[in-house]
Amino acid sequence: MQLSSQFPAYFLRLRGLALLLSVGLALTACGGGGSADDGGTVADSSGGAPAGGSQGSQNAAPIASAGEDQYSFVGATVTLDGRGSSDADGDSLSYSWTLAEQPAGSHSSLGNATSASPTLVPDQSGNYLLRLEVSDGTEISNLDEVSVTAAEWLLNTNVRSSYIKSNGNGVLVNVQGLQTSASAGTHYLTVATTGIPDYKVTLSQSDVDWLNNRPKAASDFYGGVTSAKAGEAIAFGQNIGYKPVGSSCSLGYWPPGPACPSNQSAQLKLPTEPAPAGGTACATSLNTIGLMLNGAAVFNWQDGSSYNNQQVWLNLAPVFEQYDVDICQGHAQQQGNYHHHMYSACLQTLLEDNGSGHSPIYGFAADGYPIYGPYTMQGVLAKSAWIKRDYSAASVSGCGADGVRSCQLVDQYDLSKGTQSVSAGPDTDTNVTTMSGNSIAAVSGIYFEDYYYDAALTAMGGEYLDQHNGHDHDGLGYHYHVTAQSVAGQLQPVFPYQVGPTFYGELPADTFASCGN
Ligand SMILES: [Zn+2]
Ligand SMILES: [Zn+2]
Repeated sequence: MQLSSQFPAYFLRLRGLALLLSVGLALTACGGGGSADDGGTVADSSGGAPAGGSQGSQNAAPIASAGEDQYSFVGATVTLDGRGSSDADGDSLSYSWTLAEQPAGSHSSLGNATSASPTLVPDQSGNYLLRLEVSDGTEISNLDEVSVTAAEWLLNTNVRSSYIKSNGNGVLVNVQGLQTSASAGTHYLTVATTGIPDYKVTLSQSDVDWLNNRPKAASDFYGGVTSAKAGEAIAFGQNIGYKPVGSSCSLGYWPPGPACPSNQSAQLKLPTEPAPAGGTACATSLNTIGLMLNGAAVFNWQDGSSYNNQQVWLNLAPVFEQYDVDICQGHAQQQGNYHHHMYSACLQTLLEDNGSGHSPIYGFAADGYPIYGPYTMQGVLAKSAWIKRDYSAASVSGCGADGVRSCQLVDQYDLSKGTQSVSAGPDTDTNVTTMSGNSIAAVSGIYFEDYYYDAALTAMGGEYLDQHNGHDHDGLGYHYHVTAQSVAGQLQPVFPYQVGPTFYGELPADTFASCGN
């Protein structure tokens, strides 16, 4: 019995092989219809009717589906979803999940690894790679993979600022709570944050020199210089001698101008299963477009101002507000929402990113994709694929006369489409004055329209990013990078800074940012 029941299967397999070989021969023989007919003849001669009958009883292998990649946080229970696995014969399936890779030092293991929906509680930040195989009792499926990326939000519920106060008490700092939810089939993480970071900076002599060399140091500081000394550890908001002006922030930590940061009591929802944008990419817009792991807001490149308020040449916030940010490269807008437009050394220190490998996650964009720090591997900085226009007379990105800004690119994503005349911006050898009254050189790279995207750089791969300022490598899934370059041993921000002019992913209904276009 046993032998006779096994024999047909063995026979079928041999027969299939013979058929494949004959087709292969027919193809190698090439030529016209003759050889194809020969192939048909070979298949026919092996007997059509019994083969059809045997195929009907053949078992179809099941197909494993490990579900969507997920973003979660350390300590959360993540539920995997293999329910999309299938079997054409409708056989009941058994599941076998394995945790193939996990971050160094992690001791996490899978719960209910033989169920359709096992659980994982990440105990370290980083990437977890899971594999699923299903069986229908006769055959085993393909291996399907899914990744879970766990971030370590700076969650504390009782640490208060010593310098930023409300009703006489220091306000709570960092993230106050994390909660997952789902609505209309989309899964979200709600981050409850005060928006007040808990930075500490030990000032170097070059930091002190930088402060004292501010163009308006004489009027910015009491006595013309900062009261902070090299080697001193400065807490966020601590007085370093700035002189408030008018109704601006009265704390001496901030240069004159911006409002004081205040507790935002924000509840911000991020999608935990981000998806690439289907159609046109969403432009990033003013206000919060992402969240750092300490709950500080991520803003994009713009600050809403432009050359002569014409909205033709749009100011880049990291350039025009370089003298209006604190020593952690952040500031608050009028409603007290503290934010970063660019790389912050304080955040890098807080997240213990020493450049010894790929940077850790610094935060998340509103589309749910993570924003990593500046390094793509040990000592290698991620590189923007946005290039500064060359305003010399003969340049294809220029306007026909040296240093003149009388034209813009027809398409910032395609240099070959040429330029068109616009209301002129300042010549590149002149200076412009910022809202806080500081003078800056009007060289190429101070306006959004001074840049174009070069797809050839992205195509080089490695540390080169795409138009959204992100890439996908080493099993990390798609991610953005904070972009910076090293100048005299210090990291300086590089356009488009964090998230590019457009998001890579789609923005689900409940997330906190909306399409800027
Ligand atoms: Zn700003
Ligand atoms: Zn990367």
